[in-house]
Amino acid sequence: MTTDFAHRAALLDAADPLADRRDLFVGSDTDLVYFDGNSLGRPLRATADRLAAFATDAWGGRLIRGWDEEWMLLPFTLGDAIGRAVIGAAPGQTVVGDSTTVLLYKLVRAAFDAQREADPARVEIVVDRDNFPTDRFLAEGIAAERGGRVRWIDVDTSTGVGADALRTAVGPETAVVLLSHVAYRSGYLADGVELTRIAHEAGALIVWDLCHSAGSVPVDLDAWGADLAVGCTYKYLNGGPGSPAFAYVATPHQQRLTQPIQGWMGTSDVFAMGPAYEPAAGMRRFLSGTPPIVGMLALRDTVALVDEVGIEAIRAKSVALTSFALEVADELLAPLGVQVASPRDPARRGGHLTLTHPAMRQVTAELWTQDVIPDYRDPGGLRVGLSPLSTSFAETLAGLLAVERALPR
Ligand SMILES: *Cc1c(COP(=O)(O)O)cnc(C)c1O
Repeated sequence: MTTDFAHRAALLDAADPLADRRDLFVGSDTDLVYFDGNSLGRPLRATADRLAAFATDAWGGRLIRGWDEEWMLLPFTLGDAIGRAVIGAAPGQTVVGDSTTVLLYKLVRAAFDAQREADPARVEIVVDRDNFPTDRFLAEGIAAERGGRVRWIDVDTSTGVGADALRTAVGPETAVVLLSHVAYRSGYLADGVELTRIAHEAGALIVWDLCHSAGSVPVDLDAWGADLAVGCTYKYLNGGPGSPAFAYVATPHQQRLTQPIQGWMGTSDVFAMGPAYEPAAGMRRFLSGTPPIVGMLALRDTVALVDEVGIEAIRAKSVALTSFALEVADELLAPLGVQVASPRDPARRGGHLTLTHPAMRQVTAELWTQDVIPDYRDPGGLRVGLSPLSTSFAETLAGLLAVERALPR
């Protein structure tokens, strides 16, 4: 049985048009199995060089001249590069700034305020109970701060928010809908077009959290008619621990939204040092303080790589990887009591799978000591994150065989 899978993995790797890209990553020459590129992506070798050169040349050599020469505009140029390669956004709608949490707060609050000002009945923020903690917490915080309320959508932890669930939750009191495109736990891939349409039919604005989709599944914000979005760069975009997130604001909304953290970098004339806050036109108004340039370095290499190979090719490999993992799990792990808590339909599945079993917390800890690195999420879920550019089929099989060996009999 396992020999059969080893053969299949070898054939799949041989036929994989992206197979050689794996060699571009630090550590790809070791036997370590990495199942957590959806949580902290591996660095590219080019990034290691870029970081060292930055300290000596750009920062060390150009010093403060670097701001004029490149860094002042980097949040926007890198934002536009993400827009083109990763999220389907025309130029001038994407900026790289603070953490995901802070950018989500800024955009959800700006959207909430604008909506309620236009219609005082709109006081609800719609979020699902299985959304990532930061999303749920900041929705509650904004509701408390602005005298609004949260309307919760109940979802099964092995799926996500579908059209019917959203349709039931939205209405004339909805100001903003905040949803993850790919659910961090189950990997459920929401329908961006349809859910955006449902939010709009109810007169609401929608904010998409793209953390678990950016760089692994196609996102087409302009085509969806999306309003706002925020995404993480240290997951599939390999920006490194704590690298800054990006925000998207569709052009028609930019002038009518004002975000709550008014800082000097968001003003029209940054060095005027004027007496009053005057929000800049365009995406600059969504910045607050000095942008984290060092945090943007690594990310540039992966965004360039995604642009080069194309997100469709990445998605095709992602589907092949998760489908292969699902087959192995069904045949080798299901007999040991493991269940798949992710969608079986590849069209509704992002780049990771969650496998549940009561012993998965201990299994994960045991695997880490063997250089097999998944992560654990309650209830009983071992997450198998298969970052398409840096993961091979053989690696996927090796990791799942290690899970099989570590499970109690
Ligand atoms: C990873 C992740 C975040 C992380 O937010 P940070 O501010 O970077 O800590 C937020 N939302 C989702 C859905 C995530 O997957």
